[in-house]
Amino acid sequence: MRGLHWFRNDLRLDDNRSLSALAERVDEWLPVFVFDPELLGRSPRALPRTRFLIDCLERLRADLEAQGIPMQILSGQPEVVLPQLARDAKASLVSWNAAPTPLGERRDARVDAALRRAGAEPLVLRDHTVFGPDEIRTRTGGRYVVYTPYRNAWWEAWERGPRGASGRSRLPARAIAGFDRRPEIDLPREGASAPEAPGLPGASAGPDGPAAASLPRGGEKEARLRLTTFLGEAAADYAALRDRPDRDGTSRLSPHLRFGTISVRRCFSEALSAARAEPRAKAGIRKWLDELVWREFYHAVLAHSPHVLTRSFRPEYDALAWRDDDAGFEAWKEGRTGYPFVDAGMRQLRATGWMHNRARMVVASFLTKDLLIDWRRGERHFFDALVDGDPASNNGGWQWSASTGTDAQPYFRIFNPVSQGERFDPEGGYVRRWIPELGDLPAKRIHAPWIKGEPPRGYPLPIVDHDFARKRALDAYKAASASKA
Ligand SMILES: Cc1cc2nc3c(=O)[nH]c(=O)nc-3n(C[C@H](O)[C@H](O)[C@H](O)COP(=O)(O)OP(=O)(O)OC[C@H]3O[C@@H](n4cnc5c(N)ncnc54)[C@H](O)[C@@H]3O)c2cc1C
Repeated sequence: MRGLHWFRNDLRLDDNRSLSALAERVDEWLPVFVFDPELLGRSPRALPRTRFLIDCLERLRADLEAQGIPMQILSGQPEVVLPQLARDAKASLVSWNAAPTPLGERRDARVDAALRRAGAEPLVLRDHTVFGPDEIRTRTGGRYVVYTPYRNAWWEAWERGPRGASGRSRLPARAIAGFDRRPEIDLPREGASAPEAPGLPGASAGPDGPAAASLPRGGEKEARLRLTTFLGEAAADYAALRDRPDRDGTSRLSPHLRFGTISVRRCFSEALSAARAEPRAKAGIRKWLDELVWREFYHAVLAHSPHVLTRSFRPEYDALAWRDDDAGFEAWKEGRTGYPFVDAGMRQLRATGWMHNRARMVVASFLTKDLLIDWRRGERHFFDALVDGDPASNNGGWQWSASTGTDAQPYFRIFNPVSQGERFDPEGGYVRRWIPELGDLPAKRIHAPWIKGEPPRGYPLPIVDHDFARKRALDAYKAASASKA
């Protein structure tokens, strides 16, 4: 029997559920990736995420070719291209891992129907998260809208039936003959890729985004290396250092989990065995795994409440009187708000396509509370600029920060961008790294350089007074929550 495997956010051969299931049933196959013009319209070539995806794809293709399997990289609508390939290759089974977003689910339903019409059977399994959105339920069968009880139920489910990684997928015996590989990735050229500028990290972003050398390396081998290195080194101190953007205390696996160059089950399996082997690391590893449970939580929220992609999870906050402040938005995007901790985060994002989680929370709070700019504008910018831009986690993070979401921080708790910097970047190393203009300031001045004199030349004064902005935000949120009554 012959089959196709349609690779999407599962760009790996290790522990790939639907690929393994395909191998059980077919002996000849072809791997396929399809550049969908609809998705490409949303994620043009120049975006860090697309560039990372192409890197992962190249490496996967090389791994497969080393085994004599030509990967088919096509472009077009999947519901047209896949049935056509299935017909040409006389493949009667087509496997893929289920889409984790509502948009992807709708597209998959179209592909499913088109394949059946063409006489091929779809084989679809869930792979992107450990537990599916309907597997973690309250005792009465309801859905969780708060993280902590969800996390407790998640771990109870794991204790009842752990779902670790199952190992490298056995591939079908051989490739379908007659399908040589295409010479290059056939991507519509709708935009130029970013220039590769040398120089300071803070200065290396071109007009289209980070320089290639600043983006993380893609591919399965790199993801495994990152996991092993993290578990052997930083994981033990993760609970203490995960909030410090001046330290290299987190795994940086987010782009890999986004594109599936590593399976989330692999992360759980390896981390739990590292914790057994090294009891000193146990608490840090457990904390890290709880972060992966946040990822599962936000995927479940998106599946159950797809309206969050366009509206607030809490409807009363749709009445919030956001400000139209294009100048403020541009200053925020460029890292020129005059608040060094905020600006360091935004410049790290621009230069590398990644930002530390603590900085993400602070810059998102600054945009939505201090500038009172609609969270959707920030979410969109992050989605375009992040190499790990993911609809579920990005939306969850933004709605949490804007206090409009499921498990949001209460609106009256508004991050102070100066004290956040003093607390989480106490020596100022993060700010100095990304804002060279402030490089000579001592730690005690670096988070509020306008106090005790002017900020150094070339660095702006704060674009808004935090105390004033805080009161303005409190009034706006209070008015919106009163509209519920
Ligand atoms: C406003 C905002 C937007 C965000 N947008 C995204 C996004 O688009 N994509 C994304 O993957 N994460 C997003 N996050 C979550 C988090 O910031 C990143 O996952 C994390 O910084 C990635 O770095 P890491 O891999 O070193 O994380 P680690 O600390 O090593 O954590 C391990 C993994 O757990 C998951 N994780 C960690 N924290 C969270 C979290 N708060 N929510 C969901 N998953 C989490 C990620 O998959 C991460 O790779 C966002 C957070 C905020 C506040």
